[in-house]
Amino acid sequence: MKIIVLPGDGIGPETMAATVSVLEAASSRYKLGLELETDLAGLDSLKRHGATVTPALLEKVKKADGLMLGPMSTFDMKDESKGEINPSKFFRKSLDLYANIRPSRTYPGMPARLGEFDLVVVRENTEGFYSDRNVESGSSEMLITPDVAISLRRITRPCCERIARAAFELAMTRNKHVSIVHKANVLKIADGMFIDICHEVGREFPQVKVDDFIVDAMMAHVVRAPQRFDVIVTTNMFGDILSDLTAELSGSLGLGGSLNAGDQYAMGQAAHGSAPDIAGQDIANPFSLVLSAAMLLAWHARKTGQAQYQTAADAIFNGVAAAIESKEATRDVGGTLGTAETGRLLSKRIAQEH
Ligand code: ATP
Repeated sequence: MKIIVLPGDGIGPETMAATVSVLEAASSRYKLGLELETDLAGLDSLKRHGATVTPALLEKVKKADGLMLGPMSTFDMKDESKGEINPSKFFRKSLDLYANIRPSRTYPGMPARLGEFDLVVVRENTEGFYSDRNVESGSSEMLITPDVAISLRRITRPCCERIARAAFELAMTRNKHVSIVHKANVLKIADGMFIDICHEVGREFPQVKVDDFIVDAMMAHVVRAPQRFDVIVTTNMFGDILSDLTAELSGSLGLGGSLNAGDQYAMGQAAHGSAPDIAGQDIANPFSLVLSAAMLLAWHARKTGQAQYQTAADAIFNGVAAAIESKEATRDVGGTLGTAETGRLLSKRIAQEH
């Protein structure tokens, strides 16, 4: 399995270095023969190549078996004509990575303020309110006069169908419960369509229990009793916001692993951003990116039927849980270690796994 590794901006280089060391340990322990090729994306690429991402990089990624994308300073990427392209959008759109899978769970050894829970947000990734990806070219956001701005939201049947199917298929491997999150009381046409299609697809999965929630009420339900939920399916921006909340409720945003998956390609990417406030200080939690890498290995196992990638992914998931329980972790999750030491100890743990 060849993986292109793009460390990114802010805390990206630190958390990606830890992730690479864990992947290397898993590769030698489980004989994966991983080939990890590091390249540039983000602000360093902008300086070197005049663009945050390039067509040559995309071609390289298409030939590989997977991509690990570090966090990007997207706030500094304002003008595409100057090469300031949001790499996240670039890969999600170019590789049609329509399903953003964002699990959140509590871990033994960490105070579970809201009780234990284990849920997954399945977020549509290719349309919705994201004006840079829901049109073929240009942007669906415009300034009509200096004082009037308009942002358009796109919802389509094929995108609703495929994200709903991804959610129900995932639920079949878990607790067989899908919650649809929407704002159909206000966005009656677009979110009305989203709900209807989710229920339609749900009828193909009669074993799965289905309910639906208005997004604002959902925030209260998730904070009150996150253990009520198993798989939550929603549109792009609601999923982005909700999954940061669920990651933080699990203990830290630094635990939010995430996979962007399509039918052909997949990209592991932490749920959090580049966290410039803590960059370069060796305090960022690398587990979000490490868990994302494990999700990428698990995706490859499902795609190719090669079980050793699933075994390696499980070893990483269990290794992270054990590291948290024994406090071999960063401060945000109750440990005392730096990013690099956390990565080193987790790699050692994986290498010694029986
Ligand atoms: P960006 O503009 O790239 O989205 P941001 O700082 O606005 O960056 P996040 O990177 O998501 O947004 O960070 C939000 C908060 O969570 C910050 O206070 C940050 O310090 C914290 N945080 C994010 N990622 C981690 C991490 N891996 N470990 C510890 N704290 C984190």
